[in-house]
Amino acid sequence: ALSARNLRHGFGETVVLHGVSLEVGAGEVVAVTGPSGSGKSTLLHLLGGLDTPQQGEVWWAGERVDLLGTQARARRRAGRVGLVFQHHYLLEDLTVEQNILVPALLTGRDETERARGLLARVGLAGRGRELPRVLSGGERQRVAVARALITRPAVVLADEPTGSLDRANAEVVAGLLLDLAREERAGVLLVTHEERLAEQTDRALHLLDGRIVEEAVSR
Ligand code: ATP
Ligand code: MG
Repeated sequence: ALSARNLRHGFGETVVLHGVSLEVGAGEVVAVTGPSGSGKSTLLHLLGGLDTPQQGEVWWAGERVDLLGTQARARRRAGRVGLVFQHHYLLEDLTVEQNILVPALLTGRDETERARGLLARVGLAGRGRELPRVLSGGERQRVAVARALITRPAVVLADEPTGSLDRANAEVVAGLLLDLAREERAGVLLVTHEERLAEQTDRALHLLDGRIVEEAVSR
């Protein structure tokens, strides 16, 4: 569903990724772990098409996308990749429902009913007209999960989606993300420091010094 070949990337003099290859199959849930500064977020940005790798290839659903311009890539993202970040990137001037619909804007489809269904699925039925600022941290992340799934992506990329939450909320949000992805048959690539969360995945990749050094297969 998503793959990367030999990604090299850095900032200024610093090389962060030294040739990373990986693949997330349809419906597969893969964890990415690694120390702070090891390049996990950098990797997710490249995989999600938010940045262009200095070298290497990114493929979504059999199509190479790293050579596309930003606009073309944004249009391709719908149906292929959904994104969840650590800190809620909800647009504060839009309602909850409008936030969920943002990734669907480029598809030209009216996904209002689907947005309402997803909102109910994350336990926030009827709250679509509220503004993000009235929501709790856990509620905001649940909106972010619904938003990531609105275009029916093949893969959801999640960067520490529960990192800013207390333990109880973290479990609810992580559980919803994994359950919903399973229901929607979406793969998940999940950056996490939390061992308990990594244990719920099919496979774990460990990033160290810009390389994937460990791949624990099926537990
Ligand atoms: P954490 O677990 O703390 O989130 P991470 O594994 O996600 O860490 P990255 O955010 O990918 O790490 O950062 C990897 C390295 O690249 C760090 O040394 C960071 O300072 C550097 N870096 C990341 N983004 C930029 C940028 N836009 N400009 C310059 N340096 C950057
Ligand atoms: Mg990070």
